[in-house]
Amino acid sequence: MTLTGKMLIGGAAVPGTRDALHAIDPATGQPLQPAYPGASRQQVEQACALAWAAFDPYRNTAPAARAAFLDAIADAIEALGEALIERAMAETGLPQARLQGERGRTCQQLRTFARTLRAGEWLDVRIDRAQPQRQPLPRPDLRQRQVPLGPVAVFGASNFPLAFSVAGGDTASALAAGCPVVVKAHGAHPGTSELVGQAVARAVERCGMPEGVFSLLFGAGREVGLGLVTDPRIKAVGFTGSRSGGLALCQAAQVRPEPIPVYAEMSSINPVLLFPAALQARGAALAQGFIASLTLGAGQFCTNPGLLIAPRGAALDAFLAHAAEQLRPCKAQVMLTPGIHQAYAAGVAALARHPQVRQIASGEPGEGPNRCQAQLFVTDAEAFLADLQLHGEVFGAAALVVQCEGAEQVPRILDALEGQLTATLHLDDADLDAAHALLPALERKAGRVLVNGWPTGVEVCDAMVHGGPFPATSDARSTSVGTAAIQRFLRPVCYQGFPDALLPVALREANPLGLRRLLDGEREA
Ligand code: NAP
Repeated sequence: MTLTGKMLIGGAAVPGTRDALHAIDPATGQPLQPAYPGASRQQVEQACALAWAAFDPYRNTAPAARAAFLDAIADAIEALGEALIERAMAETGLPQARLQGERGRTCQQLRTFARTLRAGEWLDVRIDRAQPQRQPLPRPDLRQRQVPLGPVAVFGASNFPLAFSVAGGDTASALAAGCPVVVKAHGAHPGTSELVGQAVARAVERCGMPEGVFSLLFGAGREVGLGLVTDPRIKAVGFTGSRSGGLALCQAAQVRPEPIPVYAEMSSINPVLLFPAALQARGAALAQGFIASLTLGAGQFCTNPGLLIAPRGAALDAFLAHAAEQLRPCKAQVMLTPGIHQAYAAGVAALARHPQVRQIASGEPGEGPNRCQAQLFVTDAEAFLADLQLHGEVFGAAALVVQCEGAEQVPRILDALEGQLTATLHLDDADLDAAHALLPALERKAGRVLVNGWPTGVEVCDAMVHGGPFPATSDARSTSVGTAAIQRFLRPVCYQGFPDALLPVALREANPLGLRRLLDGEREA
């Protein structure tokens, strides 16, 4: 597969006309070929115009046809073979096995949305049939279904070059909903993005979809990213990245003449609570699981466990000793970009010089650029409560342990935390009452609450929630992983008094799609 450095505007491969970016191999610091010139304002507008032109024909395709399209994208990504993995390894420093796993997850994600489309529940059909005899007033026939919002701008994420990028979760859920997609590739992995973009383009052609259903742009966030978010033909945005980037896009979307939703996933420190009985009974095993989760992928996961909350005492001391022992031999891993490495180094340095934070252990220092040396710090509850700087995300393999003097400090800490993607409880039967008392606070703070597991590793399934109150995400009512993600790009429309022949197929009386409808207040079998 040849890399061309070209964007995809609809079906056409075209070179950008603005400054070029090169991927950097983070393991060596060396630039990679080819150059990727950025899109001009006119090229951004062209992609948006094509997406808008594709919207009606695309949304009117049958759900089964869109499902076949998503399956075809997955097939085309798999057909890229190891060339995709090799380029992604060079651009991200991530190991082969991780990227192969991520490719599997990406294709599974596309196929899961295809299954969702075929099942039809996402249309959420509700029918209240006419009651012409009702007194004092007759009721008209009312029917509701979900329709897509319109073209969606998707920002590729640096930390998931496949599963949250060109054909990742945001793209899959938007395409499933019936929304054309314009992707802004992340500048860290343009070659990987081009390869996946070519695969999507092949699926567009193979399935006879309208050409504007997918475009892929390169370029700087301020020009291409803001150009997309402010284009009147874009109706929603999917983003994973920094808090500052996500907020900038939210603000730009809000001050448009027609504001639009931005689903931005930004920052989370994913608190883990160790309850006394569990800590006492299995501290060594907990320490092992914690360090494995903390250091996975150099800690570059949005669900990385960055904060541990536990009661002070001999059991915690033993846990910390085990954790330090596990951490010290951990090899330094290459981080995704020089920028991410710099931000990590700055975050770790701030913790290390904090007067009330103590460094417990470090992993092995790395040789070469952009290496993440894992770090473990400890502080006490009052110091944590007194300094909001300690509540911020350090993106990478660093964690802070907060030692509590008494159980009453735990709810105060939870109340003080910002919104989170996850909250984890390690508990035994003797801890259940204490855990039960904290559940309301945990539900207020997090999108996913886990018991006796670790937050890294996010299943793609129907019940998953990968979301949470700000700043975990900009909109806690939704998820960016799992089939419920389709709902972000849909809105309900009610059809009142329509003759059957004029109704959308999903709402017709004979139920030709075989949907489980909510019919006059009863769910159909
Ligand atoms: P980023 O800097 O937010 O960039 C993500 C995307 O947003 C890029 O395409 C970027 O474009 C664009 N962008 C950023 N600021 C923008 C702005 N003001 N206006 C318009 N577009 C903008 O994220 P990153 O490069 O992936 O990593 C930086 C930091 O983000 C990390 O150190 C980490 O703290 C955080 N991060 C968090 C998560 C998470 O899941 N919690 C995941 C990844 C990163 P350009 O690069 O072209 O400007």
